[in-house]
Amino acid sequence: MTSFLSLRGIGKSFGATRVLDGIDLDIEPGEFVCLLGPSGCGKTTLLRIVCGIERADSGQILLGGQDIAGLPPAARGFGVVFQSYALFPNLTAAQNIAYGLHPTGALAREMAKRSREMLDLVGLTAHADKYPVQLSGGQQQRIALARALAPNPRLLLLDEPLSALDAQVRATLRSEIRALQKRLGIVTIMVTHDQEEALSMADRVVLMHNGRIEQAGTPDELYRKPRTRFVAGFVGRMNMLPATVLADGKVRVRDSELFCAPGSLSVGSQATVGIRPEHVVVKRFGSELGTNSFAARLLDTEFFGNRTSARLACEPLGIEIEAELPADARSGGEEPLVPSSMVHIQLPLNALSVLAQ
Ligand code: ATP
Repeated sequence: MTSFLSLRGIGKSFGATRVLDGIDLDIEPGEFVCLLGPSGCGKTTLLRIVCGIERADSGQILLGGQDIAGLPPAARGFGVVFQSYALFPNLTAAQNIAYGLHPTGALAREMAKRSREMLDLVGLTAHADKYPVQLSGGQQQRIALARALAPNPRLLLLDEPLSALDAQVRATLRSEIRALQKRLGIVTIMVTHDQEEALSMADRVVLMHNGRIEQAGTPDELYRKPRTRFVAGFVGRMNMLPATVLADGKVRVRDSELFCAPGSLSVGSQATVGIRPEHVVVKRFGSELGTNSFAARLLDTEFFGNRTSARLACEPLGIEIEAELPADARSGGEEPLVPSSMVHIQLPLNALSVLAQ
């Protein structure tokens, strides 16, 4: 079946630097896709290529099966919002939005009507006659969004639209954009380097690294089933244990054996066993032990209100492990766990990711 948008073998170099190295990606109707990755991985370049501001050296961009690589940006009919709101300072909010309608050749009356609808959509009807300097950063970005949406674009492209805003406004706009996108059903591609933003907003996260797609999947898939060490380390926090694969579903970590599911990794190969801090079970010393249990010493704790994070030294595994302490560990229970307390940690088999070295 034809996808809404297909990128096939997109390659791009700047001078001798290979910035995109064969990007293949299919995007389906109604999807909100986030391009996530560290600075310099090529996500903005990829967005600019989709938008038409930049040309790929190789590959195809298929919109409904038609190659649009040769079309200039205006002819693509996409809405774009940049990090810097890029509003015209001499135009009011309503005029800025109406400006986005020019390419469609709409009549002045229709433009004013559409502009009012868009102001209503982003909740800024009362601010129609204000100039950009009279609006907050969040309001300016809402206007930029309204301007991009006004011509009813086929695709919405967002380049780090929230990164210039403070944390609280960012959180509000995150859910507003997400709700708006779902309501309009408009296919959206957003670039971000903020994993929380990507995980909370996207239907699918495309994690990029060195010009390639490292893994693409739902936020849940990336978090629970990272396919590489890079994904495991970039998305959320992960304890990484260097291991050697043994036979019978086991690995060796230092002098200890750990039951896990090494999948297709061959016996004798080097691997990394990953476990999220919240999946490490911390038990009081002397509790009943299960599979994959080891003694550990509490080094220190950090209280975050809704959770307590702990660093533990685990001698049998030869590593420091980050874990979440049970709710009763500091105040309730028998004796509070304090630095130097001995505990047992258990690494549940189904919480372990075994990754190639
Ligand atoms: P960031 O989050 O920092 O914006 P990014 O993942 O979006 O990073 P790009 O902006 O796509 O990365 O840049 C990828 C690489 O290409 C970087 O090394 C950058 O310096 C380089 N680059 C981007 N645009 C140009 C250009 N016009 N000329 C030369 N090099 C460029």
